[in-house]
Amino acid sequence: MEAKSDRSAWLKGPAFPCEVISTNVTRPWRIVLLGAPGVGKGTQAELLTRQLGACHLSTGDIFRTAKCLREDERSPAMTAALEYMRRGDLVPDTTVLQMVRERMSCLRCQGGFLLDGFPRTVAQAEALQNLLQEQNLTLDAVLDFELPIDEVVARLGGRRTCEACKAVYHVTGRPPKKEGVCNQCGGPLVQREDDRPESVRVRMEVYEKSTAPLTEFYRRLGLLVPVTAQSTAEATLERTMVALQSREQEASQSDKGAPSLVRGPA
Ligand code: AMP
Repeated sequence: MEAKSDRSAWLKGPAFPCEVISTNVTRPWRIVLLGAPGVGKGTQAELLTRQLGACHLSTGDIFRTAKCLREDERSPAMTAALEYMRRGDLVPDTTVLQMVRERMSCLRCQGGFLLDGFPRTVAQAEALQNLLQEQNLTLDAVLDFELPIDEVVARLGGRRTCEACKAVYHVTGRPPKKEGVCNQCGGPLVQREDDRPESVRVRMEVYEKSTAPLTEFYRRLGLLVPVTAQSTAEATLERTMVALQSREQEASQSDKGAPSLVRGPA
């Protein structure tokens, strides 16, 4: 049986609780996904959700969901946050952290989590460590997807996202069965506003300055797992699973009791 998950509480806030609790999970994996925009984190998160049963929790998706609301339905802080996002800049840490704090139930979930796009700065990473510690939770791994910059730019230009369910495609690398239509829900596929060339440039600069130092932060904590993201998404997934498997073995040898890997259907 394929692992199912529901991200309502994450995307829309705690007033919209989950309808499906992750099944097929023997023990939860709690993972952070790192890598420059366009490296394929969203796609890997989707594939890993099926393999591990953990929910894909993307902070960018929360903002994109809020963007679909009428202005009078959004908080002033969210409206301000969307302006940062439109320019390709990072939303201030205080706003992001408040949003994550409101969604703590998703981090406590028995199905585990795959955090994508958070943390984005060392300050956010430190805050996440504190939030998890308060709940007696720990991260199992931080997957760092690596890709040369010219490939990143090519991937972003061709990326298309489902407006409804946020599934990610690429016009050549991962095309939908029917052009412009999501395979999963039939929703329309669109180019994200921040995938336009002028926003991409800002995002890459911001990544180098604010987010790249995170790799050092997590390396020092012994959590960093580098994964080459070249070639197909499926090959990257395979490398990721092998890397997680070897972490699991190391952890069981040192008797830390890491979670068991759960594989969905191939
Ligand atoms: P993403 O989908 O992760 O590329 O995020 C899209 C945009 O949302 C980013 O360019 C930022 O403007 C904003 N954003 C998402 N997550 C964060 C975060 N953790 N900290 C600051 N800004 C964020």
